[in-house]
Amino acid sequence: MTDSALAFVATNDLVAVTRGRALPLHELSPTSGVGWVPANLAINSFGRLMEPNPFGALGDLRLLPDMASRAALPLPSGNCDMFLADQTQPDGTPWECCPRSILKKALDRLAEDHGLSIMAAFEHEFALVDEHGKPEGPGAFTLSGLIGGEPFGAAARRSLSEAGVRWENWLPEFGPGQFEVTLAPEPALRAADCAIITREIIRTVAASHNKRATFAPLLHPDAVGNGVHVHLSLWRDGDPVTYDPSGRGGLSDVAQAASAGILDHAAGMLMWTAPSHISALRLTPHRWSAAGSFVGLQNREALIRVAAVPAGCDPSQAYNLEFRAADATANPYLVMAVLVHAICDGIDRGLTLDSVLIGHIDDEEFNALPVDLAGAITAFNNDDIAGGWFPPNLVEVALAVRQGELETLRGLDMQERCQAYVERY
Ligand code: GLU
Ligand code: MG
Repeated sequence: MTDSALAFVATNDLVAVTRGRALPLHELSPTSGVGWVPANLAINSFGRLMEPNPFGALGDLRLLPDMASRAALPLPSGNCDMFLADQTQPDGTPWECCPRSILKKALDRLAEDHGLSIMAAFEHEFALVDEHGKPEGPGAFTLSGLIGGEPFGAAARRSLSEAGVRWENWLPEFGPGQFEVTLAPEPALRAADCAIITREIIRTVAASHNKRATFAPLLHPDAVGNGVHVHLSLWRDGDPVTYDPSGRGGLSDVAQAASAGILDHAAGMLMWTAPSHISALRLTPHRWSAAGSFVGLQNREALIRVAAVPAGCDPSQAYNLEFRAADATANPYLVMAVLVHAICDGIDRGLTLDSVLIGHIDDEEFNALPVDLAGAITAFNNDDIAGGWFPPNLVEVALAVRQGELETLRGLDMQERCQAYVERY
């Protein structure tokens, strides 16, 4: 280790921006971490600190690094190791508004109340764009699209592997310049860590290849979206419990109740899973994103897709729910936390899954999701159960940062709004 080796102790905030502090790697301590400021949570995606906020100029926090989350970001100046951190009080107890700690608490609820745990994988789409934000490359699953992304792609995959992020597929996606990387299932907290590491490695490696990678949900209003799909399966006592061949859609009773919980809270969850001012546009029919609140077998318009299990795979091991209504403007810890709470609620209330769609969905059958962020916020405010999932201060700040974002975007048409997100994400 050289004295110049750098550690970046990182959080991911309410607008899914990774922020933190750097220090010499040899001085990094998992017990004392680095200092942090509560009001940092009130910085919006365009870098403005929203005021008033519940914290003001007051308070001291620590960022306590999870040493196991270490990921080398290959900067041109040499490696910088990123460590994902919990935001704590100075005495080391969790800060109530720390997204990573909120997820841990949600997972504790699932374990304590239901004896369940979750294995999950975040699947990311992104695009390589030029300096004007225009996509570079033919897309449409072409070999030339894959090759056009090299050697950036090779370097990114190598960095992911070196960071312990087990990527499964790397593909040229449908949109021009669009790629997708899918990850192997991990315990839910690690899966959310891996989502952040993946985004930052891809952005860093692209920059070092004089390219720009953007995870913005849409590059322009008519574009194919960049989605984040979250695959999850339920486990009890070390065994998967998502599959039951005799259950609706092949889902066990508990997986049906979990799905019903997600459907029940779908509209109220969106301000946490797809929270930008362009996110809702991605979630409209015929974009193969998540245009309606239903569970569908092999259906890419569904909020929850149940994928086919390939020959040679044990369905009891492979079966999972794919939640498709997330994007990279959402904090992965909070995405996972709302899913976990919705799952707990579905099981607590004994909700049943009325139907699993087999086959196509007709246009008139789409059970539409909120058409914009204002609708998603109203849905959250009307969802008394979801309202209890987060501390009031966190909700207040989440609403403030999105309001601030709207002020920055006011007067811009949808094309210009998309462009603003392309530059930021
Ligand atoms: N691009 C789609 C989205 O916005 C997903 C397409 C697919 O991989 O199924 O979610
Ligand atoms: Mg895809």
